[in-house]
Amino acid sequence: MRIIFIGPPGTGKGTQSNFITNKYSIPTISVGDILRSNTTQNNEYNKKINDIINEGKLVDDNTIVQLTKKRIHQIDCRKGFVLDGFPRTIPQAHALKNMNIKIDYVIQFELSYKLIIDRIKGRRIHIPSGRIYHKKYNPPKKENIDDITGQKLTVRKDDNEEKINKRIEEYQKYTLPLAEYYKKEEQLGYIKYYIINAQLTPLIIHKQLEKIFIQ
Ligand code: AMP
Repeated sequence: MRIIFIGPPGTGKGTQSNFITNKYSIPTISVGDILRSNTTQNNEYNKKINDIINEGKLVDDNTIVQLTKKRIHQIDCRKGFVLDGFPRTIPQAHALKNMNIKIDYVIQFELSYKLIIDRIKGRRIHIPSGRIYHKKYNPPKKENIDDITGQKLTVRKDDNEEKINKRIEEYQKYTLPLAEYYKKEEQLGYIKYYIINAQLTPLIIHKQLEKIFIQ
């Protein structure tokens, strides 16, 4: 089962991919998480990548494709994976196609601008695991503490209104054209393509995804 999630920030892609990873035992490949964990080593190159992320811009296609290609070919991905946040541009989608890895499902998450802002502003993350909380909608048992490890939660540097606007702008400019691209791929019978209303609760969306995957 090879799945792609596309959607603007704050639409629950990360939450759903964590569900899927637990339920079907296939890894989530979150390019954002990989980039964030790589940049803990403080060299010039990582600093440059970190700055791009913190400005809410997209990292260059070449870097992203190399990184994803390496990850997809690791042994734990042989039964499938969820790509959370890749591809995000048409050249990335072409690069994925050239890897000759058959994608089964493309799931697009949709949510209004107002709700995206609301979701992102309250978001708290546990960086080492990628676990995602929300101050109001999905609070941890203890304020600002990860339920499993007891470690501190973090607010991402790009999770503020100015950067969110930039990220949404980038999404509309570079990522949204993928919807047309994958609709065509569906017409050609290469993939199955679904749109999810991300306003629904995580549990309802989880159930919808389960239904899609058993069809
Ligand atoms: P995310 O955690 O998915 O919100 O990604 C955080 C940031 O990582 C994005 O705003 C980009 O700067 C970078 N990033 C993640 N995935 C990609 C991608 N596929 N292409 C380009 N940049 C990416």
